[in-house]
Amino acid sequence: MTQRIFKAEGLVLRTRVLGEADRLVTLLTLQKGKFEAVARGARKIKSRLAAGVDLFTYGHFTFHQGKTWPIITGQDPIERFSWFRDDPELYPYGIYLAELTDRLISGEEPCTALFELLLEGWKLLGEDVDRYLVCRSFELKLAHIAGYSPHLHSCTNCGQKNTAVFSPRQGGMLCASCRGADVIDMLPGTAAIARRLIESPLSQVSKVRPTISQRKELSVVTAAILAYHLDLGDIKSRRLLSE
Ligand SMILES: [Zn+2]
Repeated sequence: MTQRIFKAEGLVLRTRVLGEADRLVTLLTLQKGKFEAVARGARKIKSRLAAGVDLFTYGHFTFHQGKTWPIITGQDPIERFSWFRDDPELYPYGIYLAELTDRLISGEEPCTALFELLLEGWKLLGEDVDRYLVCRSFELKLAHIAGYSPHLHSCTNCGQKNTAVFSPRQGGMLCASCRGADVIDMLPGTAAIARRLIESPLSQVSKVRPTISQRKELSVVTAAILAYHLDLGDIKSRRLLSE
């Protein structure tokens, strides 16, 4: 960021209190990846900036390069995803997708696929969708974008078609002969569903119909992938989601 004034299209992932009246806003932008910027006076009641830098806002932003952080000088919201603020049941889902995205990205490397995934996820959660499946699909797609797409169609070790368990360490399914320690039982049908959740557009996930036991397996496996390969540790907001 060398130029003094710049523009970006962004999503507000997080906001924090800064000093008496300001907010420090974490943005995921199309042009410059993730970075923090100051919204001056955003905590004052009459602030014009406040609503445009709320958590979950999608919009165009203008920045002035400050000494420590860029300063937001203009904003033009496109969508505020108000359903997350209005519906306490939906709020944790919006936060969860934001937290996962925030934790996965460390620097200012732009990633269009991730930006579009989060934007679509927030949009879909406001509709009549299977929220559980949106989250599982989001997690699997995130792993795919990060280069850790699980190997699901055959045994990761020997290539055999009949698989029985998922190995977080090996990042895929294993057959009965190759299974070792630290594996998770996952029926082949669940592996096929996981594949569909990776390959289908997020908007199509409600067409997938896992059984209750398959849902449980998917929860355990996706949590293991996030913890093992993406080094995301414990995601606080995942615990808030009702399953
Ligand atoms: Zn095998």
